[in-house]
Amino acid sequence: MADAGGCRGNRIDVFWEEGMLCHDTGRGMFDTGMDPGFLDVLEKHPENPDRIKNMLSILKRGPISPYISWHLGRPALLPELLSFHSQEYINGLVEADSKGGKMICEGTFLNPGSWNAALLAAGTTLSAMKHVLDGHGKLAYALVRPPGHHAQPTQADGYCFLNNAGLAVKLALDSGCKKVAVIDIDVHYGNGTAEGFYQSDKVLTISLHMNHGSWGPSHPQTGSVDELGEGEGFGYNLNIPLPNGTGDNGYVCAMIELVVPAVHKFEPDMLFLVVGQDSSAFDPNGRQCLTMDGYRDIGRIVRSLADRHSSGRLLVVQEGGYHITYSAYCLHATLEGVLDLPEPLLSDPIAHYPEDEAFAAEVVRSIKKYQEGIVPFLKGD
Ligand SMILES: [Zn+2]
Repeated sequence: MADAGGCRGNRIDVFWEEGMLCHDTGRGMFDTGMDPGFLDVLEKHPENPDRIKNMLSILKRGPISPYISWHLGRPALLPELLSFHSQEYINGLVEADSKGGKMICEGTFLNPGSWNAALLAAGTTLSAMKHVLDGHGKLAYALVRPPGHHAQPTQADGYCFLNNAGLAVKLALDSGCKKVAVIDIDVHYGNGTAEGFYQSDKVLTISLHMNHGSWGPSHPQTGSVDELGEGEGFGYNLNIPLPNGTGDNGYVCAMIELVVPAVHKFEPDMLFLVVGQDSSAFDPNGRQCLTMDGYRDIGRIVRSLADRHSSGRLLVVQEGGYHITYSAYCLHATLEGVLDLPEPLLSDPIAHYPEDEAFAAEVVRSIKKYQEGIVPFLKGD
C-alpha cells in the first residue's frame, strides 16, 4: 500500500487478485477451443492469463509505478451478484461449476477454477468501487479477468460471465450516487452493461466500438445507433459504432464531438471508464487501430470529465485486450492519461502506420446529427 511521496495527491489505486489467473480458457483455433488436427501449434484462447500478467508487470515495473497504490480484491458474495444478474442465471453458473464446468456460450468456457476467478473479478471491482465511494481515493482501476461487459442480467457472452462494471454501477447507485456515466472503449459493444441499464435514466451507457453487429444467440444486440434505451431509459444508451481503422484521431473526434457533450448534459456524479485494449492497432480481435497516443488522449479526456462532474472520482474497469504485449503498453498509456500527466512516460514501441481519420470523422458527424435529432436530452441547448 506504499504511496510514492512525489506523486501524492495524483495516484491511482489498483485492485488485483492473483486467483484471477486460474481461469484457464484452453487452446484451439483461436477462441473455439477446438483442435481440427491440421496444425502443430495451437494458439491459446485470446482471453488468457498472459495478457493480464503483462498488464500487472508493466504497472509494477513501468515508469507509472510510483503513481500506483496496490490493493487486494476479494471474491464477490453470491447475494451481491443479484443486484445485476438474475437468481436463475447465477444458479445456472454455480451448477455448471459444480459439475466441472462447460462451454456456456460460444468462446466462453467455464472450466475448473473459472467460477472462482469470475467471483474474484466481480468482488475486486466492487472493492475498487467501495474504495472510491468511501472517499479513500478518487481514481481506481480494477485489473480483472474474466472480463464482464458482455455479461447480461440473464446471459453470458463473449468470454464474460459476471458484469463487473455493472455490479459496481449498482453499488454506486445503492450508495447514494444519483447519476452514473459509463464510457466503454473496448472494441466490442458493451451490450451486457447496456442491457442491464436499458430502462434507466440514472445510468448513461456510452459505447464506442467496431461496427461488428450481432454475433449469435448470446449477443442479439446490434450495437447500432438506434439502440437508444427504452421507457425512462430512452436516450440513455448511446452507441458509437466506428468504422474499421478509425485510429487515434478518429477516436478523439468521437470523444470530443459525441461523448464529452453528452456527459456534460447528463451531469453524472460518478464516472466509469470501461477499457479494452482490443481497440488497439495490433489486436487479434479488433481493427480499430488505436495506439498508445490515442489511449492516453482518451484517458485524459475522461479524467477531465471526472474533474468537472464527479469531483474527480473515476473507476476504470479492465475488459478485453488480447495482444499479449501491446495491450499492456496501451493500458500504461491509458492510465498516464487518467493521471493527466503532462508528458508521456513511455514511448510507443510498435505503432508506426499512418492513419486516415477522414472517414471516421464523417461517421462521427452523421452519428451526432442522428443523436441530436432523436435523443431528448441532447436536443438543443
Ligand atoms: Zn472486447
